[in-house]
Amino acid sequence: MLTAAPGTLQAALDAAARGWAVFPLRPGTKRPALHGEARCPRTGACSGGHVKWEERATTDPERITRAWAQAPFNIGLATGPSGLVVVDLDMPKDGAAGPTGAEVFAGICERAGQPFPTTFRAGTASGGQHLYFTAPSGPLLGNSAGLLGELVDTRAWGGYVVAPGSVTPGGAYTVLDDAPVLPLPGWLLEALTARQEPARPRTVAPAVPRAGGSRAARAALERECANVQAAPAKQANNTLNRSAFLVGRFVAWGDLDRAVVEEAFQGAGEARGLTAAECRATIRSALDSSIRKARPREAA
Ligand SMILES: [Zn+2]
Repeated sequence: MLTAAPGTLQAALDAAARGWAVFPLRPGTKRPALHGEARCPRTGACSGGHVKWEERATTDPERITRAWAQAPFNIGLATGPSGLVVVDLDMPKDGAAGPTGAEVFAGICERAGQPFPTTFRAGTASGGQHLYFTAPSGPLLGNSAGLLGELVDTRAWGGYVVAPGSVTPGGAYTVLDDAPVLPLPGWLLEALTARQEPARPRTVAPAVPRAGGSRAARAALERECANVQAAPAKQANNTLNRSAFLVGRFVAWGDLDRAVVEEAFQGAGEARGLTAAECRATIRSALDSSIRKARPREAA
């Protein structure tokens, strides 16, 4: 059974007092308590159309007090409207071996010749860390996943973090260092924006294996792998999904071996900066779906 967290209202008010826009997460979880667009009743705040959590997040103590009176909600901190960029340093999944996100990030700082930033830092329930920075006034940053390094994500517009004071069955979110929130260091901003630049020089595409396949099928595979490599960073995963789906029918028709297609897309996705795990998951689901939906060749 979940124990009540009497501190969550106070923690939500504390965050709001810093100018951070908060919204309720279901008690004991990391999921928004507000309904999603698919289940929108089009009433109340949504009477003029669905309003998502990023827009409903607030710094208004009255609204927060009213909302938190209903339940011991956890605290979602909408990074975009809060003017924050949070670097999310995760732990390896399920106790897997390998460096933690914090260790990876320390290595990134070292290679950049920069100190590990001393800024407001929170500890996550899983033992990870959140480094808080104020967002730059220039480009609007979105989220990134694995762009800076394995297990190093960033949350800005379109994202949120679970704020200190929240509790989950796995543990509590705490303040590790109550240091002032630093502006996002220029070298980090550069690393985030340079890699979101679609026109940057591209890594050389790994060669599509030569074994087997009809000419049309091989041409499609090569073209789609090139598309994945040319995708803007924010579109990389969507493009991988769409491209793998398009090529999937050739697998269904027996023109290409599934293992060959998987290997080619895996190489293209990783070269574009996606993590190995992201690539595997996206490719698998896109191919499964495509093969399931493939029509006979003459009807395609
Ligand atoms: Zn709604």
